[in-house]
Amino acid sequence: DASKSLNFIEHIVEEDLGKGFPKEKLRFRFPPEPNGYLHIGHASSICLNFGLGITYEAPVNLRFDDTNPAKEEQEYVDAIKEDVKWLGYEWDTECFASDYFQQLYDWAIKLIEEGKAYVDSQSSEEIASQKGTPTEAGTASPFRERSVEENLQLFQKMKNGEFKEGEHVLRAKVDMASSNMLMRDPIMYRILYRAHHRTNTDWCIYPMYDWTHGESDYIEQVSHSLCTLEFAMHRELYDWFLDQIVDSDRVRPKQREFARRNFSHTVVSKRKLLQLVEQGFVKGWDDPRMPTISGLRRRGYTPESIRNFADTIGIAKRDNVVDVSLLEFHVREHLNKIAPRVMAVLNPLKLVITNYPEGEEEWLDAENNPEDESAGFRQLPFSKELYIEQEDFKEEANRKFFRLKLGGEVRLKNGYIIKAESCTKDTDGNIVEVQCTYDPKSKSGSGTEESLRKVKGTLHWVSAGHAVEAEVRLYDRLFTDETPDAHKDKEFLDFINPDSLKVITAKVEPGLANAKVGERFQFQRIGYFNIDEDSGPEKLVFNRTVGLRDTWAK
Ligand code: ATP
Ligand code: MG
Ligand code: MG
Repeated sequence: DASKSLNFIEHIVEEDLGKGFPKEKLRFRFPPEPNGYLHIGHASSICLNFGLGITYEAPVNLRFDDTNPAKEEQEYVDAIKEDVKWLGYEWDTECFASDYFQQLYDWAIKLIEEGKAYVDSQSSEEIASQKGTPTEAGTASPFRERSVEENLQLFQKMKNGEFKEGEHVLRAKVDMASSNMLMRDPIMYRILYRAHHRTNTDWCIYPMYDWTHGESDYIEQVSHSLCTLEFAMHRELYDWFLDQIVDSDRVRPKQREFARRNFSHTVVSKRKLLQLVEQGFVKGWDDPRMPTISGLRRRGYTPESIRNFADTIGIAKRDNVVDVSLLEFHVREHLNKIAPRVMAVLNPLKLVITNYPEGEEEWLDAENNPEDESAGFRQLPFSKELYIEQEDFKEEANRKFFRLKLGGEVRLKNGYIIKAESCTKDTDGNIVEVQCTYDPKSKSGSGTEESLRKVKGTLHWVSAGHAVEAEVRLYDRLFTDETPDAHKDKEFLDFINPDSLKVITAKVEPGLANAKVGERFQFQRIGYFNIDEDSGPEKLVFNRTVGLRDTWAK
């Protein structure tokens, strides 16, 4: 779409193309660490990178940044692939940083040979204490001037498992006086006796992020490596590491940064999401209350709604908080177009039509989706005993109450006009039944004068004898605070909403008994719901995706 304005990353790409960078050499990547499930923040990065691939007809790699076996698992790799696919994107090549361990090791040897890396035998505390401050140069390690020979031997022994964890590290010899603290002889390798989900126990030294990321980009010939702002200071090191290995006839990757997205009323850090799972605040990574892609999927979100949301918020140069209600807006907008309308009563109140023949039933025509003609019609059973919502009836109410009250009239959606005549209460004074009369000539769509008569309210309902029971899971925000992880004196877990899940039993129209897991519906006048995977032949389970703002206009 030529009329679409470019974002600042696209401007950078355009500028490079303008300077003669060949379009066919453009390549992007999405580089998740498989230490958790993808969340809505990742969706921004996925849509950005894969979106660039689509715009420039360039390949996009899915790269697993798997250099920390202490936190990474195959389960996460599988979940990430499923989520990216579900969002609607196809990667060119599936890559793993761990596939480059040998190449990275060989390059590390080269750096040692050139006097640009050394084995430091101090503890991590000692090394940290020598870093200096932004205004004061750091102190050189006593091992900084080790001979190439000794460094090669020690590094070899590190690799061969001859030392304990923490005994030695490999550091790049850059500049202990740099104003950029990251340039003060950064660590390239550490010893770690942990089995890796792919390389198992082949390695007991693992490369650090900075040493791995740019070199991986180079190996894959990624042209533009996009990451979040916290890596802006790392760019100098990214470039320094590339300087050591780049060949002039190959593409030199370029790191550029965009702002990490935060979202109101939730957290999007895998570490914190893992805490929610492990401490049982939610039932798993795909709990419908989680801001994960798998949670949103289970909740009933569509890939389109997430992509539209990511497109709308775009990318930014500064960190900020995006209101989750914007995400809800997008799913509501999409489901309005595609979700069949059905009748479901969440808090049933018995309604008896006293002048309707006993034991009789009729089937009414109901439009499946006014937004989509091709969705057609279905038949709804109607009978003497129905259920309506408790909150749709009051004995007395003022003129603004466009629902049912004693002596008042409403239309039953797709059915008749009824008038409330009396009601019955239990010993506590709760209304347990409403008695009505109906106008037999007022049937919707029958074309009679009475059927066209306007009454103020239209209610949804189900036939008591035909309705099926369903468990309905009503989700609310997981946190009561807008920015749960932005408080100095409190932890994000202090803001957990104790009422984030309410389970009720609803009465739904009988056709829903055959609905399949994942199917989405609009419960008229209530909201959007989908069938949860816990549903089975004995039990129908719905998740509330999002509430409905508007009630029927007509
Ligand atoms: P987390 O704190 O959740 O672990 P991360 O950045 O360490 O986040 P990665 O798996 O490394 O997670 O992320 C893969 C890519 O997605 C990176 O390029 C990262 O910058 C981007 N990304 C992660 N979180 C967000 C976010 N909230 N907004 C935008 N991009 C994000
Ligand atoms: Mg990361
Ligand atoms: Mg991380």
